[in-house]
Amino acid sequence: MASISLKGVTKIFGGKKAANQITFDVADREFLVLLGPSGCGKSTLLRMLAGLEQVTSGEIHVGERRVDALPPSARDMAFVFQSYALYPHMTVKRNITFPLIMRKHRWWFHLPLIGGFAKRRIERTPAVRSLVERTAKTLALTDMLEQYPRTLSGGQRQRVALGRAMVRQPDVFLMDEPLSNLDAKLRTSMRAEIIKLHREVGGTFVYVTHDQIEAMTMGTRIALMRDGEVQQFGTPREIYTDPANTFVARFIGTPPMNLIEARIDPQRGLVVGDAVLPLPAHLGALGHHARDVLLGVRPQALTLGGGALAGQVVLVEHVGAESIVSIKLDHANTAHSDEGASGDDVMVVVQGYSDLRAGQPVTLSLDLGEAVLFGRDGKRIRV
Ligand code: ATP
Repeated sequence: MASISLKGVTKIFGGKKAANQITFDVADREFLVLLGPSGCGKSTLLRMLAGLEQVTSGEIHVGERRVDALPPSARDMAFVFQSYALYPHMTVKRNITFPLIMRKHRWWFHLPLIGGFAKRRIERTPAVRSLVERTAKTLALTDMLEQYPRTLSGGQRQRVALGRAMVRQPDVFLMDEPLSNLDAKLRTSMRAEIIKLHREVGGTFVYVTHDQIEAMTMGTRIALMRDGEVQQFGTPREIYTDPANTFVARFIGTPPMNLIEARIDPQRGLVVGDAVLPLPAHLGALGHHARDVLLGVRPQALTLGGGALAGQVVLVEHVGAESIVSIKLDHANTAHSDEGASGDDVMVVVQGYSDLRAGQPVTLSLDLGEAVLFGRDGKRIRV
């Protein structure tokens, strides 16, 4: 069983908390993604899991074992880095076999003649051969086993690094942005390979990325972090449809969720600028108390025309099958998102090629069926 349990895990670097009281449980065979902007502490958390960084306080358990005081080698975890970390002077086969050789390592393995002989013997044992062959087959590396890393593409090198992690057959795989050195196309195909790998090898995966698409497509659950703290821990769907605060709401989804200043008026409904909209059924229970709110609506839930809100086109971006239209509202304000991006314009996703031009007046209608409300402090208001 390789469930992972973190209890109040904290890391302080020179007075600064890189991880602050992190507590969550990862089930056996789960694919957990640690997601968040640069510097939020996700690598530090992963390195503490691996034992490459000591915890300042808190506990880490894997299955029944407490591991936070154990050295990395005693934790039965394999780590895959962004930089591949392959041995350049070894063939692909030797790179993949290396962890198995190290398991039987003796001091005389360093001697050129005897050591070389011993390593080849390990490589030739039927169990090792079959494991390496199976691994190479899973990762489509069979034809490259005799090549050296320098002759491989980035994607192939990362597959070798994955192979080296796989042959150890660890309970836990830890991966730190393993795809970030690859170009966009390769990243997409490697993403699929890692999902397949997780299904086939069946370990518990913890995967660090700052890429929301990777997180949404690969994770069974996501821990979305900011400033050393977990903002929300949930399935990709929960995080998308049920964000805990405006940071989560705007971090997930492209373009980001619109946050429009609004007011609940018990007599009238939801007042947005000079428009009044009925509160949708799922938010109806919030209608009894007057309060200022931020109305969260995805760009996909807005349509041009219909007339609820008026504004002017600021920018039109054509992205293939759809266009993203940025609109400055005449009578309503959008909230400045707290992660620094400009929140001045409302974004609308329009199917197909939009002929709109900057400066044109437009009206907007809102589908509030999946709208969410936040307090002006950014915290989600729940029914
Ligand atoms: P990135 O995606 O840029 O790698 P991250 O979310 O993985 O970011 P970490 O690398 O975990 O973030 O860093 C979290 C914070 O801890 C940062 O402020 C960083 O500067 C700091 N930090 C990380 N490692 C050390 C270290 N060895 N010494 C001092 N500060 C560190």
